[in-house]
This record gives sequence, C-alpha cells and structure tokens, in this order.
Amino acid sequence: MNINFFFSALKFKNKKFKKIKTMVYSFIEIIIFIFGLCIGSFINVCIYRLPISKSIVHPGSLCPNCKKPIRFYDNIPVLSYFLLRGRCRHCSTPISCRYPLIELISGFFALFILSRFGLIIEGLIYYVFIASLIIITFVDIDHKIIPDVITIPGMLVFFVLASFGIPAMTYKDSIIGLLAGGGSLLAVAWTYHLITQKNGMGGGDIKLLAMIGTIVGWQGVIFTIFVASAAGTLVGILMMFRTQQSIKLAIPFGPFLSIGAVGYIFFGSKIIFWYFDIFGA
Ligand SMILES: [Zn+2]
Repeated sequence: MNINFFFSALKFKNKKFKKIKTMVYSFIEIIIFIFGLCIGSFINVCIYRLPISKSIVHPGSLCPNCKKPIRFYDNIPVLSYFLLRGRCRHCSTPISCRYPLIELISGFFALFILSRFGLIIEGLIYYVFIASLIIITFVDIDHKIIPDVITIPGMLVFFVLASFGIPAMTYKDSIIGLLAGGGSLLAVAWTYHLITQKNGMGGGDIKLLAMIGTIVGWQGVIFTIFVASAAGTLVGILMMFRTQQSIKLAIPFGPFLSIGAVGYIFFGSKIIFWYFDIFGA
C-alpha cells in the first residue's frame, strides 16, 4: 500500500496531523534505512563467501585473519566499524572500509526505492534486484566471475513474479526481456568469436543480462546495453590512458550492466517519455 494514498484517504488537513504525518514518514525512513544497512551486512557476507562456495549462513562472521568469531556487538552495520576504528578487536588487523561502504550503499538504495516507489511490494522486489546486482558487481570486480547461483534463480524468481504482475509486467514481457538480454549478448559473443577466434564475452554476462531482462523487459535491456557500453567504453579509455596498454578483458562488464539496469529502474520511464516527447514518435 502506498503511504501517500493512506494519508490522503484519511484526509489529514490541519497542522497537528501534518506534524504527525511528517513524524510517521521520518520514522518509516529511519526503519527502512536501518533495514537497508542490515541487508548490506548480509550482502558483504555473500560477496565474500559465494565465490569460494562457502555457506552464507554458517558459521557466523569470522575475522578473515585470526578466525575468531565476530560478536554481535562488533557486527553492527557501519557503527561497529567506527567503534573498532576499522580494526579486528582480537588481532587488530585492519578491516576494509569497503564493508561499511557497501552497507551504506545498500541503506541509501533502500531509501531511494522508498521515495521513488513508496511502501509497496514492487519496491521490495526492486530492492532485492538491486541487492543482487551489488553482490554481482563486487564479486565480478574481485574474481572476474558472475555467480550462477544468483543469476539463474534470479531469472526464475523474477519471471514467476512477472506472471503475477509484479512489478507491473506480464510473463510475456518477462520472457521477451530474458530472450532479448541473453540473446543480444550471445550474438555479440558469437560474432566476436567468429572474427577473432577468441572468447571475449563471458557466459556470466550473458546470464546476467538475461536476468536483468526478466525484470525490466526488452526496453530496459536496450537502455541497459546502451548505458553499460557508454560507461564501459569511457572507463576503458580512461584506464588505457592511465596504464598505457590494452585493457581488453581486464575490465569486468557486470558492474556496468548493473549500473545500466539500476539507472533504468529509477529513470528509465522518464527518459523514454522524454525521448518520445522530443522526437514525437
Ligand atoms: Zn582478527
């Protein structure tokens, strides 16, 4: 249920109620932000453990250096990092600042989703989608792989949800999106192989764009490819200037596809409307 609708239905008119309304809003925002931070903590566990095929639930968090269990009070998102001054309580090994950073990214995305979509199930689904893209992005940066354990169940879950009309699409949109996403990158990979006799595009990227397609449809796939190629080329050129050498295969494509897909969720419909407005198509 959308909160705006809830308040307008109650016809809060006078000042006192307006104050209550603002308070309830702030309260919901704080809860959602904390929720996002906690999920961020879980995202960190997934980024670390999924590529090395470790369970994401058992055992609890350990210090990667001294292997001592991290107590719950040392495992509070963001806060613990600052209280411990970025070091393990037992062995004083520095903890990467990436942990609190990812928790904050997750927390802020939870807030952005709330302000863009409201408290509706659609928002939750988009949030789950974005959380899985954060995992994929950092695993791809670290290991140059995109875990099948996310993309394949992802395709299935988003397709099933689409069949129920969440988020506002049909199973046909979803399957066309899947084929458009997987098919287009598969075609690129084949063409590249045909010309150079080498493998350029990883299978992980193909499955990732197929998963993205199941939730954003074929329009979203086009948008994602466009943004990912533009951003990827830009970063590629910048890095080539810095390192003075060819960086082919050195840059993982997963993070760029993720940026494109997230961009579509927040701005896609606006940009498409703007395009049709200007070009009158
Ligand atoms: Zn330690």
